[in-house]
Amino acid sequence: MSGHLQDHFERRIDYMRISVTDRCNLRCIYCMPSEGVRFIEHREILRYEEILRIVRIATRLGISKVRITGGEPLVRKDIVRLIESLAEMTEIEDISLTTNGVLLKAYAGDLSRAGLQRVNVSLDSLSPERYEIITRGRHLSDVWDGIEEAENAGLKPVKINIVPIKGFNDDEILDFAMLTLRRPVDVRFIEFMPIGAKEMWDERKYISTGEIKERIRTLGDLVPDRSERQAGPAENYRLPGAVGVIGFISPLTNHFCSSCNRLRLTADGKMRPCLFSESEIDLKNPIRNGCDDTEIERLLSLAVSVKPKEHRLGERIPRRFQRTMSKIGG
Ligand code: SAM
Ligand code: SF4
Repeated sequence: MSGHLQDHFERRIDYMRISVTDRCNLRCIYCMPSEGVRFIEHREILRYEEILRIVRIATRLGISKVRITGGEPLVRKDIVRLIESLAEMTEIEDISLTTNGVLLKAYAGDLSRAGLQRVNVSLDSLSPERYEIITRGRHLSDVWDGIEEAENAGLKPVKINIVPIKGFNDDEILDFAMLTLRRPVDVRFIEFMPIGAKEMWDERKYISTGEIKERIRTLGDLVPDRSERQAGPAENYRLPGAVGVIGFISPLTNHFCSSCNRLRLTADGKMRPCLFSESEIDLKNPIRNGCDDTEIERLLSLAVSVKPKEHRLGERIPRRFQRTMSKIGG
């Protein structure tokens, strides 16, 4: 059977984000608590064979793009093998990965040879001292080495994702924007969301895309950039003369829900139709109980059919979610 997944709001679903682990080699202070994190038990984590089976069936329903995330995907053993197997599926046109970049120097070459096309690196400060504080002790130089290695390996353009948080790193917004003047990187500003370490979320620390743009405009006009196909939720711009692109991802202020094309698979095998909805559809138990492919197709279609029209975060309900980003797969 082949076809395509379309939800009740005429959105075509062709993109799956796959979390391969909820573990991480960092403890970014807005994402994870410093200790006492309860990880999913190993036996509850999908094995690669199980992930590949789900993706293979999903491709028959029209999934053609995948992104590997976590937790930190590069801490999962044999991650290159998973990428290689995904790359063998001819229906998959695009394979990307989101990482904190700390292990990227060691992995970039192998990932690229395995068939990875692009990489997003999360980086919330350009100051080595502050980076150590945010990540609770890691070194910024490792991330830069990783970005350089990724560029050399052809994983281009590297996208650098920053979450600006008021009174924390928002004084670096212009420095991040200026990176695009001299380096061919995409810098993407992501609105802070009420998901993650509970001691960090506070509405007063949130900065809207509108405010971020206003600050960046003090450097020059933000010229809409249409060079990249608009596959994702980012709005892209360039500063005059810049080699890189500035993107804005605005889960709270811009309802990109109407063009949402994705499903998420959590590390413990749940399909999550929407980042901001707690509803999940279990695939792991049916698979381990020996269900056939048709049943998996049915469950994937069910996940799509319950995709909400839009989330209500813009109404600023300062509520937090059961799973942190590292557990959902950011
Ligand atoms: N470990 C990888 C990394 O850091 O890129 C992948 C997983 S991480 C959960 C994915 C993204 O979620 C990161 O860019 C991180 O900044 C973002 N994130 C985590 N908590 C967030 C929050 N409360 N608001 C906005 N973004 C958040
Ligand atoms: Fe780990 Fe990524 Fe969360 Fe930082 S943002 S703690 S790197 S999962």
